[in-house]
Amino acid sequence: MPGTVRPMRIDLINTGTELLLGQTLNTHAHWLGGELFELGLRIQRQTAIPDGEEIRLALLESIPRSDVIVVTGGLGPTSDDITREITAELLGLPLEQDDSVLEHIRAYLARRHRELNANSYRQAQVPRGAEVLVNPFGTAPGLYFPPQEGAVAGVTRTPHIFLLPGPPRELKPMWRDQIIPRLRAMMPGDPPQLRNFKLFGLGEAQVAETLEAPMLATGIVEIGYCVRPGEVILRAIGKPSALDACGELVRGAFGGRLFSESDELMEEVVVRQLTARAETVAIAESCTGGLIANRLTNVPGASEVFGWGFVTYANAAKEQVLGVPAALLDTHGAVSEPVARAMAEGALRVSGADHALAVTGIAGPGGGTPEKPVGTVWIALASRAAGSPPASPTAGAARALVVREHFPFERDMFKVMTSQTALDLLRRRLAGHEPA
Ligand code: ATP
Ligand code: MG
Repeated sequence: MPGTVRPMRIDLINTGTELLLGQTLNTHAHWLGGELFELGLRIQRQTAIPDGEEIRLALLESIPRSDVIVVTGGLGPTSDDITREITAELLGLPLEQDDSVLEHIRAYLARRHRELNANSYRQAQVPRGAEVLVNPFGTAPGLYFPPQEGAVAGVTRTPHIFLLPGPPRELKPMWRDQIIPRLRAMMPGDPPQLRNFKLFGLGEAQVAETLEAPMLATGIVEIGYCVRPGEVILRAIGKPSALDACGELVRGAFGGRLFSESDELMEEVVVRQLTARAETVAIAESCTGGLIANRLTNVPGASEVFGWGFVTYANAAKEQVLGVPAALLDTHGAVSEPVARAMAEGALRVSGADHALAVTGIAGPGGGTPEKPVGTVWIALASRAAGSPPASPTAGAARALVVREHFPFERDMFKVMTSQTALDLLRRRLAGHEPA
């Protein structure tokens, strides 16, 4: 990746035999990677190791090469939970009982009608010089070891070391409340910010070719790409002023295709747009089987803008529910431009909504013909002409738009691409970026 200059080197060590036996997915690596990335930081190396002695080797490897080490797990009460002890030993720090930690454990256990035991005393041992990270959701506190000079042979200054509990419900709040502020304090100057530009209907190569050079010229630190079905996420990291300049460049090059400058999903954008205009949408779906309605209803507040969804898979359903004329179905077939248009107009009429999206296509693997190969789909958007009453028989006729697409993929990917394209059609109309 071009232009990476972020100096802080972070190693992540995830302990837990279960992570290596295929029993527990290492979600900490995924979650912490994202959290750090949002701060403009990144994990340089991630290691998963079994419980027990292996932590010694992992720390010995990481200490000389990193600025920050984050260790998860192994602070618990069992005999293989030795992260605390080994770290203290490697840094040459004696363990001492911390009375406030012991009191926290006593109170925590008392609320659960349990008493202090031998392991509680072990968990209350704090290496001298380490800072206690309070754990409101468990017994074992986290620990922070500030850098020390000359503590480890051959290492001028040890890294910042964080030991965090393994259970996610203990780790996450501790991370957000106690680690992030410490990391921010370590970062020189204003931390660079991250901005995502989400683009619909472009390939990453095309985006890179057009935008990479001018964006880097704004002085941003880094540019990256992430490709998802139906979208390219262009990621820029840098100072806010440079990011603003990047925004201008992206809008200038691909204005109509830029659907979000944050983390919003396409359906979130559409719900937000409709809410702002106090308008509604109805959905008539054949080949997507309800996916578009599903995506919309995943968004909180969808009920303000979405009330009617129709899954009309069979011809009879298209006729009876949406009023698609039998003659159209006979003449053109269910997967055709006129039927997509009639579905959208029917949905508009029946629901009284301001807009209706309709999709009809061939998901495959069977059913394709030379004229309409597998993956063919028509997507229609009808909108009530301004001033025409809800449920008027001609509603929308003036503002229907039908596009033909070809998504020759597995059925689930076909559905995702179709739903994304349909939602984008509405998004563009609402944003005033309708394709000519
Ligand atoms: P305790 O033993 O007191 O629960 P601990 O700090 O020793 O805490 P671990 O024993 O390593 O933590 O992990 C406790 C539980 O947390 C595991 O059984 C697992 O469910 C979850 N866990 C630990 N590490 C991870 C990880 N990297 N990803 C996802 N879940 C994890
Ligand atoms: Mg444990």
